[in-house]
Amino acid sequence: ATPAATMVGTTLGAQNGVLFKGGDVLERAKDVDTVVFDKTGTLTKGEMELTDVVVFDGDGQPLADSGSLATDGGQLTAAERLSEDDVLRLAAIAESGSEHPLARAIVDGAKARGIDVADPDDFENVPGHGIKANVNGSEVLVGNRKLLRDNGIDPSPAQETMERLENEGKTAMLVAYEGELAGVVADADTVKESAKDAVRQLQERGVDVMMITGDNERTARAVAERVGIDPTNVRAEVLPEDKSDAVESIQTDGRKAMTVGDGVNDAPALAVAYVGTAIGSGTDVAIEAADVTLMRDDPLDVVKAIRISDATLEKIK
Ligand code: ADP
Ligand code: MG
Repeated sequence: ATPAATMVGTTLGAQNGVLFKGGDVLERAKDVDTVVFDKTGTLTKGEMELTDVVVFDGDGQPLADSGSLATDGGQLTAAERLSEDDVLRLAAIAESGSEHPLARAIVDGAKARGIDVADPDDFENVPGHGIKANVNGSEVLVGNRKLLRDNGIDPSPAQETMERLENEGKTAMLVAYEGELAGVVADADTVKESAKDAVRQLQERGVDVMMITGDNERTARAVAERVGIDPTNVRAEVLPEDKSDAVESIQTDGRKAMTVGDGVNDAPALAVAYVGTAIGSGTDVAIEAADVTLMRDDPLDVVKAIRISDATLEKIK
């Protein structure tokens, strides 16, 4: 573009909260044929809330009665004697040292129910899978199916409960206590108001819209459905370090992908994309790696960025 056209586009962008890092990207944006949205914090608000606590008996059946189990069962194991509040308290203690939004929601949810949340004796973050903690000498795990399997615990008795919650678009996490499945807690996030419109406007332009997330397949699909993204365009259970590979593989057939993300996790995926876009209150790392920064938290500004690129190039002709 001519310097004058670049100036016009850059100014138009700035007036709309769309910051282009140079004239190059201002030109490239109009050619984007695929937009890959990160789920959490990008299509959703990223404000998780605790929604469910389910206790299991020894056979993996959710307990109808949420109170404490009868104490006369001599063979009851530790996990079988837990109440709903016990499960939530253990999960919250285990998560109290974690900054993860899923962890914050569990801790806040427990406190809101009047549960006293102490610190664990020790805890370990297992990125993309969950948390492993020592609470009063007992091991507590909170996380996905793989976390339990990797620690020798079979998560399958909880499958029906997990699926039910995930089909509602919630992130369901297994809680294990002393080597046994003890319960499930779930967090939910809300989809941003304009996410659906943004997806539709991109699709109307002929842009293929995709979603990438570390969250499980079922939750991811439920959220995708809500915003109008085709289930086959969902890449779920992608580990933080694999997000950039996922974007590269999408681009192997010559696609020109714009990735849109907000988190530290997303920076590598923004860096390898044809156009990397950081959204809203995005972290400094994401903004640094991005070609475009959207000042607002609004997915519709993704469409705006592409339209400004169109308009700038029209001025050149
Ligand atoms: P996202 O891409 O949505 O930010 P992550 O890669 O951080 O997801 O995590 C992927 C999955 O691992 C989560 O959906 C959850 O099941 C599990 N997980 C990660 N961190 C935690 C945690 N602190 N507590 C419980 N589960 C966790
Ligand atoms: Mg994330």
